[in-house]
Amino acid sequence: MRKPLIAANWKMYKTPAESTAFIDTFLPLVASQQKTEIVLCPPMICLAASIVATKGTPVHIGAQTMDYHDNGAYTGETSPLMLKALGVTHVLIGHSERRQYFNETDETVNLKLKAALAHNLVPIVCVGEHLAEREAGHTNDVLNRQTAAALAGIDPAIAAPIVFAYEPVWAIGTGRTATPQIAEEAHKVIRAQIAKSLNPALAASTRILYGGSVKPDNAASLCCLEDIDGALVGGASLDPNSFAQIIINAAL
Ligand code: PEP
Repeated sequence: MRKPLIAANWKMYKTPAESTAFIDTFLPLVASQQKTEIVLCPPMICLAASIVATKGTPVHIGAQTMDYHDNGAYTGETSPLMLKALGVTHVLIGHSERRQYFNETDETVNLKLKAALAHNLVPIVCVGEHLAEREAGHTNDVLNRQTAAALAGIDPAIAAPIVFAYEPVWAIGTGRTATPQIAEEAHKVIRAQIAKSLNPALAASTRILYGGSVKPDNAASLCCLEDIDGALVGGASLDPNSFAQIIINAAL
């Protein structure tokens, strides 16, 4: 019922030429993986080249962030209209690095989520607790707050495309992965909050990805659980062989 989705977040790595080289190597490696929705999220400057390189293939291109206005005097920003016009299909919203370094808040996450839906972009909304919050026993509060704030005022009738990613901040880029049990518990909390904020049917159909140091050797154990519908992969997605192996292993 929920199609698995595995997305690559390349963060601020790769030039347009390097993106094209990655894609040329990567596509044949995943040619038989039709059961998984595959999304690459390159830097803004690489989106156009990546769209050209994936044209006619099932691999989608997503942005790592966007502004929530259609246009205006917002120097340096990229709007959903512009992404859509380019051929971008997905967009990450509220990644913890955006929250930490670029003033992304629960409120801007909500505005961006509404803008993405208005422009038919598939939003991948990132939520997750810091280590101190987990150690203080506040994980569920953080996940409930972030999920509810993201979904505030969203009409359930248009919410079906929304994807969530549970990304515990202490597991991102650290090599420290949540155990499958920790991830599964967190995903259940997020799903329950989606049921409250939208409705139980949408909670059952919404995909929730796990992100945080996913590698080829842990992909199978993390992605096979009931409430985990795929992965958002940072560091290990920069190499085409490693990212392809994650997709293959997760589908086992
Ligand atoms: C990420 O950037 O979303 C991420 C999960 O990074 P990493 O896989 O490197 O932990």
